Amino acid sequence: MSSTVGKVIHCKAAVAWEAGKPLVIEEVEVAPPQAMEVRVKILVTALCHTDVYFWEAKGQTPVFPRIFGHEAAGIVESVGEGVTELKPGDHVLPVFTGECKECRHCKSEESNMCDLLRINTDRGVMLNDGKSRFSINGKPIYHFVGTSTFSEYTVVHVGCLAKINPAAPLDKVCILSCGISTGLGATLNVAKPPKGSSVAIFGLGAVGLAAAEGARIAGASRIIGVDLNPKRFDEAKKFGITEFVNPKDHHKPVQEVLAEMTDGGVDRSVECTGSINAMISAFECVHDGWGVAVLVGVPNKDDAFKTHPMNFLNEKTLKGTFFGNYKPRSDLPDVVEMYMRKELELEKFITHEVCLSEINKAFDYMLKGESLRCIIRMDG
Ligand code: NAD
Ligand code: ZN
Repeated sequence: MSSTVGKVIHCKAAVAWEAGKPLVIEEVEVAPPQAMEVRVKILVTALCHTDVYFWEAKGQTPVFPRIFGHEAAGIVESVGEGVTELKPGDHVLPVFTGECKECRHCKSEESNMCDLLRINTDRGVMLNDGKSRFSINGKPIYHFVGTSTFSEYTVVHVGCLAKINPAAPLDKVCILSCGISTGLGATLNVAKPPKGSSVAIFGLGAVGLAAAEGARIAGASRIIGVDLNPKRFDEAKKFGITEFVNPKDHHKPVQEVLAEMTDGGVDRSVECTGSINAMISAFECVHDGWGVAVLVGVPNKDDAFKTHPMNFLNEKTLKGTFFGNYKPRSDLPDVVEMYMRKELELEKFITHEVCLSEINKAFDYMLKGESLRCIIRMDG
């Protein structure tokens, strides 16, 4: 491993040359890490909706050519100047948002929204020098959310890497670097359902099912799944969801249906859809006096949340979360330990597996709504 330190590495990466066009496996040059940066050998990565969303680039700033990928696990190859917390050989999860440990957010117990390393989807370069570490014949290839894990080697800011237990299987815990932790944390860190409570989960994609996994771990006695797509219900049974509501099956608003089912409202609700209607229903369906609703889904640009203020006076609480309120470096290693202690199940989220040369299949599975998580092995 040490023979590559300080040198450019030539390796394979899946490059997105244009919006919405299949990725192309190319040989790329990966420059050595600069100050506060780490070069990581990626062993497994997974595909998340956010990759697909920015690859399609409908309505966002298109940044191409680009190497996508942000859910992954790997091993440190070399570190740049000033990096003391990580050394070659350490096992890490790259995270699309970071923790500098110095800003007001990082110093606050309550926030994970780091000033320096908070997600930035428009930036395709490293903070240190405003340049990319990837190139093909000298032409820069841009980064994505500071991770770019669809490459055998990538360069990441040290603040966006969680050092994890080296015994953890990387082909399982890789999915903790984004969606699964988001849903899990939304329930465990933000909604905090008491033991024996009722929890409604809106949206049964990977994030919602991870929120359900959080409700199961917290000891909720009823986990009610709400989705417009009845196909999602079968899969959801594996996640402890026992009751299903499809808003399309009812003439009245779904919040009224849930209130009838639960003697006035659920104790907690977690919205994981991105639909403004579901967000409003998720808030209005919680019980007065103590109910808490948590929004996770990313809304459309022009959406506005409308509800009667009386709902707040009646002591319903509305919250939102980013990355399940986890601080990437401080908290993710403990989530990995939850998996190691078998408190958290990850296998059931991994529905598909491909090798790097077949990465476009992972996009097809997700676009067709067939996969929860498709992992991509880099050594194939
Ligand atoms: P997904 O598309 O796999 O799942 C969403 C589900 O919601 C689908 O099954 C869909 O049928 C259902 N749905 C849509 N509208 C609905 C409605 N009105 N009522 C009930 N169900 C409805 O998505 P995912 O990957 O699980 O992600 C869920 C959301 O979480 C997305 O909006 C994503 O952008 C967001 N997200 C947020 C964060 C964060 O930090 N806050 C992080 C990651 C993802
Ligand atoms: Zn910070």
